[in-house]
Amino acid sequence: MAQTAQYIVKDHLGQIIEALNQAFAEEWLAYYQYWIGAQVAAGPMRPDITAEFMEHAEEELKHAQKLSDRIIELGGTPVLNPEEWTSIAKCRYEAPSDPCIFKVLHQNLTAERCAVSHYQQLCDLCHGIDYVTFRLAEKLLKEEIEHEQEIEDFIHDMDYLKYCDAEIKPL
Ligand code: FE
Ligand code: FE
Repeated sequence: MAQTAQYIVKDHLGQIIEALNQAFAEEWLAYYQYWIGAQVAAGPMRPDITAEFMEHAEEELKHAQKLSDRIIELGGTPVLNPEEWTSIAKCRYEAPSDPCIFKVLHQNLTAERCAVSHYQQLCDLCHGIDYVTFRLAEKLLKEEIEHEQEIEDFIHDMDYLKYCDAEIKPL
């Protein structure tokens, strides 16, 4: 708990801690969605795609760490019970019950797009009020956009599979 940090944010403290905790719960779910997706996904380009999933998972976990640090700095408590993650998060967790790698990619793309819009909202909330949280939200926004791009690139590459398939002629 940093007293000056809390004093600076004053009237907006509760709202900012709540938004940080929402993002914190979303990061844990994003971490798990990538991690479990990497275990079960099946299909073309699996080694490359699952390696990327694991990299993203690690990055989501680092995001959770940074959010937790900031919550504590502001005198809040990061969500203590994993059972609360799904009710606090506003981005939906989608279980990869179909292992088709194309579907798993799309689930992760949905999650990334949700994260992007929420970090944009967090930036808006903190702009001119809490510069430290603003900078954090801005950094995470940038990283989520990079994630979105990487997943889109894979989906784009996989679209070529359909195209190439049509070109294959019987021997
Ligand atoms: Fe993240
Ligand atoms: Fe991400």
